[in-house]
Amino acid sequence: MRHIDIETLVSHVEGPVLRPGDESYDEERTGFNLAVRHRPDVIVGATRAEDVQAAVRFAAEHGLPVAVQATGHGYSVPAEGGLLITTGRMSGVDVDPAARTVTVEAGVRFEQVIPETVPYGLAPLNGSAPHVGVVSYVLGGGIGLLVRSFGYAADQVRSMDVVTADGSLRHVTADSEPDLYWALLGGRDNFGIVTRLRMGLVPVARLYGGGIFYDAEAAPDVLRAYLRWTAGLPQEMNSSVALIPMPDVEEVPEPMRGRHIYHVRIAFTGSQEEGERLVAPLRDTAGPALFDALREMPYAQSASIHDDPPVAVPFLREVALFEGLGDEALGTVLEHAGPQATVPCVVELRHLGGALAAAPAHPNAVSHREAQYILSVVTLLFGGTEKESRPVLQRLFDALEPWSTGRSLNFMGYGENAGRERVRTAYTPEVIKRLGEIKAAHDPENLFRLNYNIPPRGTGDGGRATV
Ligand SMILES: Cc1cc2nc3c(=O)[nH]c(=O)nc-3n(C[C@H](O)[C@H](O)[C@H](O)COP(=O)(O)OP(=O)(O)OC[C@H]3O[C@@H](n4cnc5c(N)ncnc54)[C@H](O)[C@@H]3O)c2cc1C
Repeated sequence: MRHIDIETLVSHVEGPVLRPGDESYDEERTGFNLAVRHRPDVIVGATRAEDVQAAVRFAAEHGLPVAVQATGHGYSVPAEGGLLITTGRMSGVDVDPAARTVTVEAGVRFEQVIPETVPYGLAPLNGSAPHVGVVSYVLGGGIGLLVRSFGYAADQVRSMDVVTADGSLRHVTADSEPDLYWALLGGRDNFGIVTRLRMGLVPVARLYGGGIFYDAEAAPDVLRAYLRWTAGLPQEMNSSVALIPMPDVEEVPEPMRGRHIYHVRIAFTGSQEEGERLVAPLRDTAGPALFDALREMPYAQSASIHDDPPVAVPFLREVALFEGLGDEALGTVLEHAGPQATVPCVVELRHLGGALAAAPAHPNAVSHREAQYILSVVTLLFGGTEKESRPVLQRLFDALEPWSTGRSLNFMGYGENAGRERVRTAYTPEVIKRLGEIKAAHDPENLFRLNYNIPPRGTGDGGRATV
């Protein structure tokens, strides 16, 4: 560990500044995914934009690469050395019901936003899990519960306050800083650290939705029935299906305990009557359900649709987007990641399309708008190790390559998954070229490289890719 004099940094920062060996160093760097952790030389627990500025300036002066963490749900390249900015203390939320917007600080999670917007009959375009951080989710595109109805969450962004690599704090809108606005939405922290973000809300106060559960042994055709059902649905119908190996523990209700379960999730923004009519063909063809919990619900209960556990776990994830999927591809998924897989896999298929294809009011770098499905597979690393899980995911996604059209940044995973060639698959060639040019203009030294890195275009190897 190199010696770094942090006294000047401490004097400019309101939040804690931590070094390895300090009492709260380990707690501060630990996030939701327990399989990975940053091991920086210095952590700055930012409480305000000025702390982020001081940290970025200090890092630039000392040649330290910068990583940023809100909740640790989405690790990419774990820092080995360098400077980590944690944003959990930046927790301000401000709703403007007349303008239908919410402004959030860098550390805010969706569970802090939803209770503030629902009293006005408004909802953010949140994802499945309310414990995910808003800023990173949105900058990565944001494939939400209502993705078919309203498209990518990133398209709702009105402004961002950003600390760029030169340490300045900029107010970025599509008009004031068109390049940075375009690049941040899709290129994330390659272009700076967002300290505050304002985004539009949608007028959704209620849903017809929830989950239908099937025993995968008694209803083996759920995945195929689901895929057939999704053809020709209106864009108000949002849905996904997951194949989940339920743990064999007392907390899991008896009929699901220790079994593989299909969990179909529905979020329909139309009427209950119409929702029931649309779901009927799926109910008729999927097989016998264990529980059918579709219902009329206030948006405040939308987290119950996926019911993602808020408990930190070690996991590895891979993802692919598809413009079309057929029985052969589904067979490949089940062969590699189904109940017979050598490591337990959580398989999730979400229906995209609908409003995802619409051009945003202000263009941004989020790509693959033509995607119709997103498949992500998670392996939990409790009993086994990453060494056993990686090859399973690798074999599956290699086999799916002929059908896949790219990846989504938000679900891409860490370590090898964050390699340069993988990162390119999150964008179209034109987008990656322009991102590289904007990176060269705003971060030529690649200070922000502990991420899904976009190398500065025209700098040989594209800047230093590692610490
Ligand atoms: C259980 C679970 C459910 C999920 N559901 C969905 C979903 O429904 N839809 C979806 O699209 N995604 C989903 N995701 C993926 C999630 O959106 C991404 O992993 C996202 O990056 C998490 O952000 P975070 O702040 O919570 O995590 P962190 O690990 O804290 O941040 C991830 C990365 O974001 C960048 N970043 C963080 N803060 C900033 C900042 N202030 N400025 C610039 N860059 C920053 C950094 O590169 C950081 O490493 C889910 C993930 C999990 C684990």
